[in-house]
Amino acid sequence: MTEVRRIMHWIDGKPYDGDPDRFGDVYDPASGRVTAAVGFATPEVVDRAVEAAAAALPAWRDTSLTARSAIMFRIKELLEDNADEISRIVSSEHGKVRADALGEIRRAIDVVEFACGIPHLLKGEYSENVSTNVNSYSIRQPVGVVAGITPFNFPIMVPMWMVPIAIACGNTFVLKPSEKDPSTSVFVGELFREAGLPDGVFNVVHGDKVAVDALLTHPKVAAVSSVGSTPVAKYIYQQASTHGKRVQALGGAKNHMVVLPDCDLDLAADSAVSAGYGSTGQRCMAISTIVAVGAAGDLLLEKMRERIGKLRIGPGSDLEADMGPLVTGDARDRVVSLIEQGVREGARLEVDGRDVKVEGHEEGFFVGPTVFDHVTREMTIYREEIFGPVLVMLRADRLDDAIAIVNENPYGNGTAIFTNDGGAARKFEHEIQVGMVGINVPIPVPLAFYSFGGWKQSLFGDTHIHGPEGVRFYTRGKAVTSRWPDPTARGVDLQFPGSRRA
Ligand code: NAD
Repeated sequence: MTEVRRIMHWIDGKPYDGDPDRFGDVYDPASGRVTAAVGFATPEVVDRAVEAAAAALPAWRDTSLTARSAIMFRIKELLEDNADEISRIVSSEHGKVRADALGEIRRAIDVVEFACGIPHLLKGEYSENVSTNVNSYSIRQPVGVVAGITPFNFPIMVPMWMVPIAIACGNTFVLKPSEKDPSTSVFVGELFREAGLPDGVFNVVHGDKVAVDALLTHPKVAAVSSVGSTPVAKYIYQQASTHGKRVQALGGAKNHMVVLPDCDLDLAADSAVSAGYGSTGQRCMAISTIVAVGAAGDLLLEKMRERIGKLRIGPGSDLEADMGPLVTGDARDRVVSLIEQGVREGARLEVDGRDVKVEGHEEGFFVGPTVFDHVTREMTIYREEIFGPVLVMLRADRLDDAIAIVNENPYGNGTAIFTNDGGAARKFEHEIQVGMVGINVPIPVPLAFYSFGGWKQSLFGDTHIHGPEGVRFYTRGKAVTSRWPDPTARGVDLQFPGSRRA
């Protein structure tokens, strides 16, 4: 047996190898082969990382805003200069095609750009003479050591939703990325170091539930940002808040695209196919459900079929490929079994991606684009987040029925409406119970200077991630009331302040 590469933790500015007996396999999804072993952190390794972050905190918190901002600018440049290499790493472990990986990296850099403006973002408020010779002001200070727990599907973008803002605000960070594609985070750690970020400000521990639990219960972790599936998000929210931490936990999704018959159906078909099959359906904002209103369904399906027929499926390294494999063999088996379940439960399988073969990659984790029509709300393929290249279509008679379908779904991450009727779009935008809404835009992901987040079972916690809400999450407010005594105006006064207006 040949030795595989070992992926180490990143603690205090250097690689750290933990317990050699705890590790997981990392695959090349296009070939199905194991390419590396990633060390799984024990509670002791997690403790070492948190202690490194806690030790780095006092000096980093006191580093000037302009110095922190300068480091953010250097991080931005280094991410841009290394984008090709990062996209290669992302694609080799996640499987997504290189162009898609580059898009993810661009979105990660957007957040760093936002964090470059931290001196502006942390401005407080000031009121002179709230009482005679008394001033009040509010400031925002870092919360302390922040832990981030992230999913496999965006190995750089999702960690970067958190890390740049958290550290620009003066916190230190311990990231627990997905064990399925862990190498990007360590590479990013090296770039941060090159950018001049002091050792210990950013740390990475790999692993499974053991590592996550150690972070959720560690007394020196002050806040937890997490992104993952709904059961895990709920668990993290409950555990971290029980242990006194501030927490935001983003969960899974079932994103509906409502298509009205008056819309530009070519745009809708392009959008459904792009948003349904991009990244092989493994995006939290992927369109996974189409609700076709009235006559829209048959026409849309026909146009989608034409487009699906032209998609090229291949390994991420194939620069011509539109769609890569799923992340693991387990993920592929799960998606295939859900397709079988859909057939058993009576949905009409219009396009079947189960038998796709990619020449030279017969062992890869590929599933082709799949479409079900006439799906009902009781079916498993509607109720479960499939997280693969499977679009399910429901039919509705009227816009009101479509809105009711979306609002009754337990998830509320993203949704979109396709229409040329401004009144219908406004009604949808106003009534829909979802955190991110697109109007003729299938994946309405807000840019870094807005905040990202869902409603209902798609987010546990009060704040959305990145943008202004990210700054709030990673800082605590402090209000100061100050008086510089006038030596001529002294004397005891037992009245409650405000009982006599001065
Ligand atoms: P996941 O929930 O399996 O894992 C997420 C993280 O939690 C990983 O770091 C993993 O190691 C850890 N984890 C897994 N099981 C755990 C457990 N029992 N206890 C503690 N920690 C555990 O998610 P995934 O498969 O990596 O990612 C896909 C999911 O993430 C999808 O459901 C997708 O919708 C969701 N997601 C949501 C958003 C969003 O913005 N809402 C963004 C990206 C992904």
